[in-house]
Amino acid sequence: MPALRHRLRLAFAAALVAQWAPAPGIEFVFDYTYDSLGFFAGANTNRRDTLEAAGSFFETYLADDLLTLDATNSGNPANTWAARFTDPSDGVTLRSLTNLVVTSDTLTVFVGARDLPGGALGQGGPGGFFASGTASWLETVRARGETGALGPVTNDCGPWGGALSFDTGVNWYFDSDVATIETFPGTNDFYSVALHELAHLLGFGTAQSFNRLLSGLSFTGSSSVAEYGGEVPMYNTSHWLTNAVSSLYGGVGTQEVAMDPDLLVGTRKYFTELDVAGLADAGWEFLIPEPPCLAMAAALLAILALRRRGRPRHPAAT
Ligand SMILES: [Zn+2]
Repeated sequence: MPALRHRLRLAFAAALVAQWAPAPGIEFVFDYTYDSLGFFAGANTNRRDTLEAAGSFFETYLADDLLTLDATNSGNPANTWAARFTDPSDGVTLRSLTNLVVTSDTLTVFVGARDLPGGALGQGGPGGFFASGTASWLETVRARGETGALGPVTNDCGPWGGALSFDTGVNWYFDSDVATIETFPGTNDFYSVALHELAHLLGFGTAQSFNRLLSGLSFTGSSSVAEYGGEVPMYNTSHWLTNAVSSLYGGVGTQEVAMDPDLLVGTRKYFTELDVAGLADAGWEFLIPEPPCLAMAAALLAILALRRRGRPRHPAAT
């Protein structure tokens, strides 16, 4: 019996570590160098915090390993590269950063804001690049170790990062705690838009590994087809059909998908199973979320285990 109890305690401890330890996957590094209008600057910490909260969703669940991009320390002085992206604050200027260092398992995200055309709330996508050097260096820049990104059938992606831009002309709602649900009538939920644009940066509707699965305006990726129950109808080549519904990822219930083209004023959209399936079909590895009821059970059992452990030391108290 004692041995069994010990094993159980270890199991409970492992369950707690699994819940509380930092995720092993990727991390976004948000860079505000090109936020020339100061949308995220200074006292606007709630804006940066809400963006970080959106990033945390992917950081919690993405399990991919991405190689470091560091030309100077790549072992050959001929190796060089430049990260290229359109300035998020003017939408015109091509930025080219020679030998930007992107550390392992991180994505660099250049963030800005401007008056976006056509009623758009946000824009996001992966950056481009120029590279020269050894064959293995070129592969690292292209795929960051995600060999499926090298082809011949491109079924994975390993971007260095990219750029996001948010509209300056709308009344935003910046949530100080996205875990709680409150009403915010008349405002546009920044968290929802940040989630949506980060998914485009990861490759939803933008990566070759996603786009090769389009058949006209139907998406044929196997995970998405399994989730939807057939080929998924698209609004355009980068969004699910408007008002498509799916189960919340890591939550309870259903919701309009995050990756359709619109967001109702005063509402929030979290990521759904179908949204995750789209990114999984592009090559991203998602951890399966623990059902909320099981997480609660593990925590309660752990408390019981801790109490039990104390008993032999205080027999008079029982
Ligand atoms: Zn979009």
